[in-house]
Amino acid sequence: MPPVWQTLTLRPRTQEFQAPEMNFDPLLLIYVLPLLAIWANSVVRSRRNSSKALAVLDDNRQAGLIEPASLHPVVDPALCLGCGACVYACPEKKILGIIDGKAALIEPTMCVGHGACATACPTDAITLVFGTETRGVDIPLLSPDFETNVPGMFIAGELGGMGLIKNAIEQGRQAIVAIANKARQLPGGDGVLDVLIVGCGPAGIAASLGAIERKLSFVTVDQSTLGGTVAHFPRGKLVMTAPATLPMIGEVRFREVSKEELLGFWEDVLGRTGLQPRFEEQVASISKVDNHFEVVTSKATFRAKTVLLAIGRRGTPRPLGVPGEELGKVVYRLIDPEQYAGKRVLVVGGGDSALEAACRIAEQPGTQVAISYRGKSYSRARAKNRDRLQELAQEGRIRELLDSTVERIDPQAVALQWKSEPMTLENDDVIVCAGGLLPTAFLNSIGIRMETKFGTV
Ligand SMILES: Cc1cc2nc3c(=O)[nH]c(=O)nc-3n(C[C@H](O)[C@H](O)[C@H](O)COP(=O)(O)OP(=O)(O)OC[C@H]3O[C@@H](n4cnc5c(N)ncnc54)[C@H](O)[C@@H]3O)c2cc1C
Repeated sequence: MPPVWQTLTLRPRTQEFQAPEMNFDPLLLIYVLPLLAIWANSVVRSRRNSSKALAVLDDNRQAGLIEPASLHPVVDPALCLGCGACVYACPEKKILGIIDGKAALIEPTMCVGHGACATACPTDAITLVFGTETRGVDIPLLSPDFETNVPGMFIAGELGGMGLIKNAIEQGRQAIVAIANKARQLPGGDGVLDVLIVGCGPAGIAASLGAIERKLSFVTVDQSTLGGTVAHFPRGKLVMTAPATLPMIGEVRFREVSKEELLGFWEDVLGRTGLQPRFEEQVASISKVDNHFEVVTSKATFRAKTVLLAIGRRGTPRPLGVPGEELGKVVYRLIDPEQYAGKRVLVVGGGDSALEAACRIAEQPGTQVAISYRGKSYSRARAKNRDRLQELAQEGRIRELLDSTVERIDPQAVALQWKSEPMTLENDDVIVCAGGLLPTAFLNSIGIRMETKFGTV
């Protein structure tokens, strides 16, 4: 038997390989060229958007504005397709962006936890979480009935962790049902309320209406005005809210309303139901005395079987603590710049809200605006606000008083120390933007147990 290789014969090549004939039809260009143009355009556009989004994120990082207030999205880059569905779904707009083909939270401090991004994501790449690895968010531990570890003390609305108006309404409505059951079992007494409701935002309003419906004895107090956080939104701000059911009123079918329309609606609800909250009254302390809660406000002391905290998470504006701060001309938020036309205004603070307030007021006709900040530079503000302030300062429309502190506020003037020298400014209005005091210390003082979440659900 010969070896196998000897049995193999090489056959002569009978035919040369011939490439198939390619007949290029120039008419194809009519289809290909526009497609190429569309593709090139989309590449250029997405690169441009990516670098814009990165610039916004970098600016926020430099200003230290990287910690969201509460519930916010975290994107899993392995699952994200970069389709942008989340960017377009966000009702607040421009909170998310696409950087290098992946979604990113580029305006962390402006996220209010709508969660529309997570719903819109086709690959489930977005998870909604509380806090971040570096900044924990304290969430009170609640029973399914919204009761805290302090028996008889309930929490509803954003303070419990879930943001949004519809959630606050729903929780206020449910909490009052549990409160009514509890109050029925607890001993009463002369002048002892069934429930004291703290806060008159959406959660507090819904709970108060539920209390009327269930014939509970109750008082609702708010340190500010009707409507909660929404009342402090800038004029004309659009509020997105899904349908919700209010006790005594029924289903409320707002989708997109202006802040003013929503506040008008709440006013109408008060008129129709006879609800009479006590405004401009801050709850300072809550303690257990005998079998009841003793609630001390800035105007009175109440006794109640149960307490519902519907105080949100936005905190109380940080005061300056100087004489004259109680004057009516001192406010803690800019709501309507136009009201300051022709006025002499001092803005106090060096963060974004202070710089934005100063710039927006300076754009009104006839204003004289000064900004006082104790730091030597505005290191905690976004570059676009710092740049705008510089422009207006150079045009002589804003007077910058860096390295200054307010000493006293008088009806027609403000006394300051500027670079260690005393100075007096003639003044009609003061806007203090010195940040807020979160309710954590208040909750601790009551003994409410909380869990600190570091970027977890
Ligand atoms: C900029 C921004 C935009 C938003 N946009 C939307 C949106 O479009 N759609 C949406 O659904 N949600 C939006 N939200 C979130 C929404 O405003 C809140 O989730 C909602 O207001 C929570 O309602 P709440 O009743 O729990 O608390 P809040 O509305 O915060 O009300 C709490 C009330 O408690 C009072 N209070 C606090 N402490 C005390 C005290 N010690 N004594 C007495 N009273 C006290 C406060 O004065 C306040 O009136 C937005 C939030 C922000 C900041």
